[in-house]
Amino acid sequence: MTSPDRPAGNAFATVDFDKPGRQAGFVMFPHSPHNDAWGVTRLPIGIIANGTGPTVILEGGNHGDEYEGSITISEMMRDLDPAKVSGRLILMPANNVHACTSAQRTSPVDGVNLNRAFPGDPRGTITQQIAAYLTDHIFPMGNAFLDLHSGGSSLQILPSAIIEPVADAQHYARNVAAVRAFGAPNTVVIGNMGDPRTATATACRAGLTTVGTEMRGGGTVSLDALDICRKGVRNVLAHLGVIEPTGNAPPQAGDILDLPGPAAYVYADDDGVFEPFHELGTPVFAGQPAGRIHRPWDTAFRPVALRYALDGIVFGRRHLGRVAPGNCVLVVAAPAKGLPTGLSGAGA
Ligand code: CA
Repeated sequence: MTSPDRPAGNAFATVDFDKPGRQAGFVMFPHSPHNDAWGVTRLPIGIIANGTGPTVILEGGNHGDEYEGSITISEMMRDLDPAKVSGRLILMPANNVHACTSAQRTSPVDGVNLNRAFPGDPRGTITQQIAAYLTDHIFPMGNAFLDLHSGGSSLQILPSAIIEPVADAQHYARNVAAVRAFGAPNTVVIGNMGDPRTATATACRAGLTTVGTEMRGGGTVSLDALDICRKGVRNVLAHLGVIEPTGNAPPQAGDILDLPGPAAYVYADDDGVFEPFHELGTPVFAGQPAGRIHRPWDTAFRPVALRYALDGIVFGRRHLGRVAPGNCVLVVAAPAKGLPTGLSGAGA
């Protein structure tokens, strides 16, 4: 996708995308900071290719403080036998690499959140260049995309496989089938209130079968979520025909849940310390008290209950106690009704 308005950029890969077998290397982004005039930012990448079959792209570390997916992908780069693959895996375990090495959601180099940077800019800041490389060079090679997220430092989320909503019914059915094959305890549609700047929305615009995850969070590695992630990624690869069936648990068959717009979110309206009233997974209803904000350093302050705005279950909560107005403190997921909601501009 090169044009006067959309140049190819200067990034180059040290791996051969068309070569069979196992390779590990980097996508190199020329980058010229104060202490390294002609250096590069190195984005880790692995290729495992054998025979014929689909090309599946696996992304971890889009946010640098979400670890279960990053660990799973880097293990596969080392351990998966190429002879057991039919097709090609493009393995990217630490896509916002500066964010990963500093354990931050956003890049410390330019302050940009990779998952709000698509389609990116090949002449932009380093994170915008990474997004552009994925958009222009990686997604066009793929048939399917797995984007492995967790809640990050600020959120705790029920371990879930995530459906990116798309308008095209056949594409949506492909996404749902692949997400169901993951075998996570929960299946949730997340459209980020229609935001088109995410990796999954961009992969869907490129036509790829797309699977997301949310694997707990809190900026740590959760043992149960890591186990779910390791098995789920292999389950999806087997579903896509890239590896043999895994023998893991059958696809998850419970309700598909949804975050149907602003009513799903409870936001802090004051400065203080948030006390949630319910654990993750608790059924709740619209109007029910959800939690309250304390301000122990202010003797005149009286907590007032925040309330849910949706019937559903508590899907996520803020991990950090300290809150300021506007912070997301709770997320409610409700059974999905009919066609997908929160379309991200990822239509046919
Ligand atoms: Ca994330």
